[in-house]
Amino acid sequence: MKETVILDKKFSELIPEDVIMNRINQMAEAINRDYEEKEVVFLSILNGAFVFAADLFRKINLKARISFVKLASYEGTRSSGSVKELIGVNEDISNMHIIVLDDIIDTGYTLECIVDELSKRKVASIRIAALLFKPAAYTKNIPIDYFGFEIPNDFVVGYGLDYEGYGRNLHSVYVLVK
Ligand code: 5GP
Ligand code: MG
Repeated sequence: MKETVILDKKFSELIPEDVIMNRINQMAEAINRDYEEKEVVFLSILNGAFVFAADLFRKINLKARISFVKLASYEGTRSSGSVKELIGVNEDISNMHIIVLDDIIDTGYTLECIVDELSKRKVASIRIAALLFKPAAYTKNIPIDYFGFEIPNDFVVGYGLDYEGYGRNLHSVYVLVK
């Protein structure tokens, strides 16, 4: 079994590169079919989704644009809770079909913030595509329209996902060895 060490932790291969690529082809085919004749704006969540977004987007044959967005948190001036703001959406997305691209859906908290923000902008539709999905950790009701793989509630790295900033360049997805 393929193993790798990042800093102080050992990881073993969970999803090999060729399996990921095959699955992304299938996801792109489904999106191409579902949005035939439509224009789509992909919004890829930084940082982790950049590898997935690059591979998926090149398989899309629709009239499509892509932007890379980030959730910035800052302390609200009136409330004590932290406020999330979606930054990086520079074009007009009103009346557009949006597909949010994320590396992994864990609790779904990030996703909910993004969907809430997008809903305020009068877009035509919002769907979600994620490479990985942890159903056991998911606490929200937003459907994950396209996902690559359901995985257990364990920490993974590779293919864009990091541990302390490292491991994003691994070609496969690796899971923490406990
Ligand atoms: P959520 O808001 O759904 O709980 O978390 C989503 C974000 O947390 C993901 O976009 C990702 O950045 C990070 N995350 C969640 N699970 C993992 C994991 O197993 N490995 C890594 N590297 N990041 C994760
Ligand atoms: Mg992320």
